[in-house]
Amino acid sequence: MTDIPDPVELTRKLLAYKTVNPPGDEAELARFAIDLLEKAGYAVSTRSFAEKRTSVIAVLEGQGKKRPPLCFTGHMDTVPLGNAGWRVDPFSGRQEGDILYGRGSSDMKGGLAAMLAAALRLAELDRRGADIKLVLTAGEEHGCQGAVFLAEKETEALGDAGGLVVCEPTANYPMLGHKGALWLEAEALGKAAHGSMPEQGVNAIYKIGRAVTRLEEYRFDADAHPVLGSPTLNVGTISGGTNVNIVPDRAVIGIDIRTVPGQKVERVRDDLAAYLGDEVRLSPAVGAESIWTDPEDPWVREVYDIMEPLIGETPGIRGVTYFTDASALKAAMGHPPTFILGPGEPSQAHKTDEYCYASKITTAAEAYFLIGKRWMGIG
Ligand SMILES: [Zn+2]
Repeated sequence: MTDIPDPVELTRKLLAYKTVNPPGDEAELARFAIDLLEKAGYAVSTRSFAEKRTSVIAVLEGQGKKRPPLCFTGHMDTVPLGNAGWRVDPFSGRQEGDILYGRGSSDMKGGLAAMLAAALRLAELDRRGADIKLVLTAGEEHGCQGAVFLAEKETEALGDAGGLVVCEPTANYPMLGHKGALWLEAEALGKAAHGSMPEQGVNAIYKIGRAVTRLEEYRFDADAHPVLGSPTLNVGTISGGTNVNIVPDRAVIGIDIRTVPGQKVERVRDDLAAYLGDEVRLSPAVGAESIWTDPEDPWVREVYDIMEPLIGETPGIRGVTYFTDASALKAAMGHPPTFILGPGEPSQAHKTDEYCYASKITTAAEAYFLIGKRWMGIG
């Protein structure tokens, strides 16, 4: 019998590891989690996309295989502290009443701790009818690097899943998906000349200006999703030229596109490149695909039934506004139905004096335990 740590106490321990990304440095936190999981009987392997950028895959073997593995996932890195001063020490895990402060308390060390505490409890059950899998990723806050690495280069180690729970902040509301994201740069090139003789040059800012105007009028060839809404496009940055008296030979804009289920980021990029024509060149597609789980999937009902008494309301069909590691992991694991469900406050992610409600961490640990138990066919 292992000692099951209190999930709030465990969150405090995780907060003390400085996994601010950049640089990330998830290796030590990973080591701590591995020790806990190995002692409980999990078979653990690690995969690093760079030095000290360790992701962890842990599997608790079931005694029967009535269902494919159920996977819980969360990232170990956090965003930087930001420029504003913190009122509390971001790494001490200071608690005032039900409020637990710290960088990553909501996004998402509270979720990670709840997942670990539940995983240790699940290991103590008999007659487990399926495997439980944990995937702890590095580098999520910088383009889901760890998850993308696992999905593209380590698919065998990652393995499959029949259900996926992403423990990102939803205040414990079970969410069925999110939009995808595609961030592109469009570059226009011209020919430099003296500003007094513009006819001898080619002005790259005029070219990028025409592209911006066209983008404002762009309409996606995609239907709105009934829950997640319509795809969006925003030109977020613009730069160009070096001096007022020089015809600019280069100008660049940054484009943020949010996709909906049914769209593929690669295809969206190609459509946009064709629309903008030869005046600009688009960077290669780097994007996160959208995620959606059919509310009619039987597992959705199972999880809703577990969550209803825990959150005190009947869950409705909803999604989150941000994207997650699931964009990479879901396809690589065989497209399992996926929930985003975690104790953090979505509004607290990336904020100064970030906090999480301690009671929600405890509730999430209980929820993950019950979801896992039910999946394994116990009770
Ligand atoms: Zn997160």
